[in-house]
Amino acid sequence: MSTDTSGRAAVLAEYSAPFVVEDFPRPVPEPGALVVDIEAATVCGSDVHVWLGHLAGRLPITPPLILGHEMAGRVTAVGSGADLDSLGRPVRIGDRVVWAHTPCGRCHQCTVEREPTQCAARYIGYLNDCSVPPHFTGSFAEIGYVIPRAGRLLVPDAVDSAWASAGSCALRTVVRALEVAGPIDHTDTVVVQGAGPLGLFATALLSLHNPRKLIVVGGPADRLAVAAGWGATDTVPVEEHPDAAERAEIIAQLPAAARRSASSSPGRPVRSPRAST
Ligand SMILES: [Zn+2]
Ligand SMILES: [Zn+2]
Repeated sequence: MSTDTSGRAAVLAEYSAPFVVEDFPRPVPEPGALVVDIEAATVCGSDVHVWLGHLAGRLPITPPLILGHEMAGRVTAVGSGADLDSLGRPVRIGDRVVWAHTPCGRCHQCTVEREPTQCAARYIGYLNDCSVPPHFTGSFAEIGYVIPRAGRLLVPDAVDSAWASAGSCALRTVVRALEVAGPIDHTDTVVVQGAGPLGLFATALLSLHNPRKLIVVGGPADRLAVAAGWGATDTVPVEEHPDAAERAEIIAQLPAAARRSASSSPGRPVRSPRAST
C-alpha cells in the first residue's frame, strides 16, 4: 500500500529482466497536475515491446522506467487550477480519473491532421527516467502523476476501474478507428482481424451498430469466446485455418444472416467448407 509519504513502483532497470520494486516519495502536484492512487493498470502491447527493448533507439527512452500507460486511479491531491477534467467537470479528492498521453495540441499533426499520436512533441510519461521527480511516470505503480497538460476524465461510478483503465489507450484507439471508418449500420458486414484487446474492443463497439454480420478472425479459442460474447456473429480461428486465402474464402461463403438484435446469441465458430463436407 502507498502511504502519505511514499509509494512503490515496478521499475524496469534492464530490458527483458524482472521488474525491481522501488519506493519513491509521494509527489506534491505542481499547478495543473493531479496525484492519484492507482486502482487498476492494464497492459498494452507497447509496454511489452518497450520491456523487450524493441523501441530502444527508435524512441527517446531513458531507463530506469515505470511502464504502463493504461490506468485508473483515485485523486489524492489536486494542483492549483487542476480542479476540472477535460470536459470541464469538477475534480475533487476521492474522485476516480483516467488520463492519457499528451500531444502538444499546437503542431500540424495535432491541429490540421488531427492525429495527435503522430505529434513529434508528444510527452509519453512511461518512456521517461523515473529516477527523477515526480518519479511516477508510468502506471505499474501505487501512485500516478497526471502532468499539467495531460487530458483527464472522471470515471462514472458505475464503471469499474479495471474497465476504465483501458480507456487510456486500447479503447480510445478503437473509438478513433471507428470514427475514421465512418458510419456502420445493419446493412454492413464487418470483419475484425485479430482478437487482441483492440480487436475485442472493436467487436464490442461495432456490435452497438448492429451490423448484418460481425466476423472476428483470430485466436486463441478463449479470446474468440470473448469476441462471441461481445457481439461477434461468427468467429474464424486462425489456428484451424492458417492460410489467409482459405480464411478469405470461408468469410465469403458465410451465409447472410438475418438482422439480429444486439442481445442475440453468441457467435458460432466457423468450420472450413472443405472440413464440413
Ligand atoms: Zn498503449
Ligand atoms: Zn503536436
